[in-house]
Amino acid sequence: MVVEARRLAGVSASTIRRMLEITERAKREGKDVINLSVGEPDFHTDGAVVERAYRAMKEGYTHYTPSTGIAELREAIAERYGVEAEEVMVTAGASEALLDVSLAYIEESSKVVVPTPNFLSYFTYVKICGARTVQVPTHRDGFQLDPDRLNEVMDRGVSLVFLNYPNNPTGAVIDKNTLKAVVEIAEDCNALVVSDEIYDQIYYDTKPYSLAGHENVIAVNGFSKRLAMTGWRIGFVIADKDVLEPILKVHQVNGVCAPAFAQKAVADVLMDGTADRITQNMVKEFKERRDFVYKSLKDVFDVVKPEGAFYVFPDVGTDGTEFADNLFNSTGVVVTPGTAFGEGNERYVRISYAASMDVLKKGVERIVRFAEEQE
Ligand code: PMP
Repeated sequence: MVVEARRLAGVSASTIRRMLEITERAKREGKDVINLSVGEPDFHTDGAVVERAYRAMKEGYTHYTPSTGIAELREAIAERYGVEAEEVMVTAGASEALLDVSLAYIEESSKVVVPTPNFLSYFTYVKICGARTVQVPTHRDGFQLDPDRLNEVMDRGVSLVFLNYPNNPTGAVIDKNTLKAVVEIAEDCNALVVSDEIYDQIYYDTKPYSLAGHENVIAVNGFSKRLAMTGWRIGFVIADKDVLEPILKVHQVNGVCAPAFAQKAVADVLMDGTADRITQNMVKEFKERRDFVYKSLKDVFDVVKPEGAFYVFPDVGTDGTEFADNLFNSTGVVVTPGTAFGEGNERYVRISYAASMDVLKKGVERIVRFAEEQE
């Protein structure tokens, strides 16, 4: 009999993966499926990046690189975030970075604060590290973390606070002063803040404030979303050199190094401005979709306007899991139940607008019609 380690007890195969399997099966059966549960840009990686990677491979970028990443990439990232290259470590995606950070800093039996709704992987990292998650609800505050509410749960037993703005699944962004207040509260309890800023370049109204370079903060980021490169596995961490050291110890046995040719390709497009052009074009499209989706949903559901990322998280006024199941069975539209994103999300679903406008129009029309029929 196969017995998994106790640290995995309670870690469920992700809801999103389950949705994907259901979708694939339905497609094979010839059902007209519209998948609005996807967590990655629907765009392919830009040809310019592919060209650079191909060139890099031919030039011999096929070996290990230094664990911390190639110098050009660390420098290009450091310049953008106003930090030193030594404060940047390149990882195999943001996910590797998050696990490295967790293993380096989450003390066994400690508490880890996660505002909810939030990216489901944080809950898994906490379990793997043998710690306990303390969730802080943000629903009543338009998905903004209220520092007073954070203060109520903070004490010396907290090792880490996970933040993610722009947020998956709500698209919420929080302002500089609130972020600084959060960092101060954490600092008072000797807890580190992990700021997952993977969507920081995908915003619509105001530029999100980055906590990269702040004392007591580990910023995690990457190119999966902003350059539509999810399959390439390039992420990075920005932190004080001393803070980086334990994370590097884990990275050296976990990711070892990010793919060499992909690092070189990203460094090249960051340095010659191509990266910004790619992101801007993509964000322009996402903004049109965001506007369309928000306008279509706001008269039907209670919904907060997303300011970044490519998700919207409406309160569907009934059980979100049942809503998602029934929606799929009667219309073929796939959305993610809110329970995948922590406590208090039972009445919500996540709709991803990383789908073409044509697909989105069809999908949203079906959702609206379905919701109206339920009334
Ligand atoms: N953080 C958040 C909030 C995400 O949504 C995702 C991807 N879904 C990641 C991290 C992981 O990104 P990567 O592909 O770089 O591992």
